[in-house]
Amino acid sequence: MILRFACFSATLVVSSITVPAQQTSPTTANAIASPAPIATPAGITDPEGATRAWLDTMPANEKARSDAYFEGTYWLILWNFLVTVAIALLLLTTKLSARIRDLAAALTSFRSAQAGIYAIGFAIITWALNLPLNCYEGFVREHQYGMSNQTFGAWFGESLKALTVALVILPIVFAVLYSIFRVAERTWWIWGTIVGIVLTMALTIAGPVFIEPVFNKYTPLTEPTIRDPILALARANEIPVQQVFVVDQSRQTKRVSANVAGLAGTTRIALNDNLLNQCTLPEIREVMAHEMGHYVLNHGAKITMSLAIFIFVGFALAAATFNRVIRKRGPRWGVNGIADPAGFPLLMLIFATYAFLLTPIANTMSRTIEREADIFGLNAAREPDAAAMVALKLGKYRKMEPTPLEEFIFFDHPSGRSRIRMAMDWKAARLPCGETR
Ligand SMILES: [Zn+2]
Repeated sequence: MILRFACFSATLVVSSITVPAQQTSPTTANAIASPAPIATPAGITDPEGATRAWLDTMPANEKARSDAYFEGTYWLILWNFLVTVAIALLLLTTKLSARIRDLAAALTSFRSAQAGIYAIGFAIITWALNLPLNCYEGFVREHQYGMSNQTFGAWFGESLKALTVALVILPIVFAVLYSIFRVAERTWWIWGTIVGIVLTMALTIAGPVFIEPVFNKYTPLTEPTIRDPILALARANEIPVQQVFVVDQSRQTKRVSANVAGLAGTTRIALNDNLLNQCTLPEIREVMAHEMGHYVLNHGAKITMSLAIFIFVGFALAAATFNRVIRKRGPRWGVNGIADPAGFPLLMLIFATYAFLLTPIANTMSRTIEREADIFGLNAAREPDAAAMVALKLGKYRKMEPTPLEEFIFFDHPSGRSRIRMAMDWKAARLPCGETR
């Protein structure tokens, strides 16, 4: 649960725009020289018609494939939820959770260490039980749709690395959390909220520095024809960075992505090697300007505050339900109360249900800030046609034209249609530039 939570916060804070790579791989030099494949006329007056023209450039078979891929993610939200519920019920009803706690108690009499040892057993069992669905979602499906070149060995190796990270973080979190639960049996949910918020912030700050290098390598970008325009954009928007980093994500995926992460002195701009090799300079500038928007508009702080509210409400719900369920079922499950680590699967069950029901709200919040970053990106990069091209490339794995209800429930970024419309609205407004006035 914590691992997924870590990914959740990292995904939100280190927000990225992703595009699947094209089959051909132009070199970086080619990327700079080649113009955008198509473009709308300079003086468009009909943004709706221009949007339609861009959308119609997508071949029907590509659109059908992208729709199928994206609609698959709707079901995956449900399957992931059901698997988490099943794992929680299995751990509780078979008393497996109570047995892990008993084993921990046999190994040491120190209560905090017992919670830490329980966390190790819990992490390994939930990792193993989640493996089939994770394998389908992260490996089989990605290959079915041509999104990844990764071998199974490499994929599995990364899954083991993720487990190792969990085995370092979870025991510490459990030791702290259950030490607090033992002394605050009535106000545990308020303290739980505080631990949850501190953990979210710690992972946000430490993630890019300590966790991401476990999976990928970050090297400074040396190509001046790409680096200098990105640094110029950063300088113009008061982003305190001296260099741009390249992350070798082509090892895992064909998608293009970029991010601006960190706080104050640790601010880092990074783009992945797919973006560098597969997009034109105007497209790279547009993507980087979007990422810079997240930084300038303080989206990291806003998301952290929203998460704090989500965590608080989640613990309040847990406070309202946990003890009631344990009074009824606790003896059968061998769980004694909130201070007993064996009850953790019930907490996981409550939070998973809450997060599942929260999906449309969380997606709408994410989509709203992504829209803000899009508008910032258009104003900063001033490349509406490149923005439309990027939206089309994103359309290789994100449904271009969903219904409004679909967009509300499932889209954590604006749909391709919304993004192209924004770009065309911007273009139709024909803002004057300083030089032409
Ligand atoms: Zn974004």
